[in-house]
Amino acid sequence: MNQINEEYIEDYIRSLLPRPNGVLEELEEYALDNHIPIVQPEVAQVLKVLLKIKKPKNILEIGTAIGYSAIIMAENSSENCKITTIERRRDMVEKALENISRTPYRDRITILEGEAEEVLLSLNDKYDFIFLDAAKGQYMDFFNKCINLLNKDGIIISDNVLYKGMVATDKLVVRRKKTIVKRLRKYLSHINEIQGYTSCVIPIGDGIAITYKEE
Ligand code: SAH
Ligand code: MG
Repeated sequence: MNQINEEYIEDYIRSLLPRPNGVLEELEEYALDNHIPIVQPEVAQVLKVLLKIKKPKNILEIGTAIGYSAIIMAENSSENCKITTIERRRDMVEKALENISRTPYRDRITILEGEAEEVLLSLNDKYDFIFLDAAKGQYMDFFNKCINLLNKDGIIISDNVLYKGMVATDKLVVRRKKTIVKRLRKYLSHINEIQGYTSCVIPIGDGIAITYKEE
């Protein structure tokens, strides 16, 4: 159990989801075998629904890993939607490129290699959908940089914001995660208080937050 939902709830929700096939199914197996934290199935499903509603033209992702979520976002957005995704680990970038090259989305996905805090400052484009899924201790910094790149009516989805439930209660916090937990709490307060934005936290997967930019 991930301390966020009862196992029976999670199992039930998962049992409703369509099974992915082809490359995505393979990537799920690879992620499991190699302990790569790709989006959980029910979170992927939220992304899909949000993408269908929002119909973004330009997506930004922070944290590519093996390209799993980037491929999901490509699959669920229009043919002329571009996806830019940032990853600092060379081995991950290579793996992601290899995986993406096996999909019909290779021309729509661009991987930028580097530390997100730096890469974000070099971007000139505007985005209408941003998926934040990298170092949790830096979400505040990422967010503050991302909002400058976000269009009006744009949304930011932040993954893993409840971090195994630790963010919601001290009872679950293990000592070496104290700083990350503190930072995530600050982050969630911030996105709920900041003027001009409306946010919600959804206890699904490892906890996600959705932030909408009013203007
Ligand atoms: N979004 C992916 C999973 C990402 S896992 C999916 O669901 O398929 C998080 C990734 O973020 C890791 O590969 C890690 O190397 C990368 N990362 C963490 N901190 C980062 C940073 N500061 N800059 C760039 N990449 C970062
Ligand atoms: Mg995640």
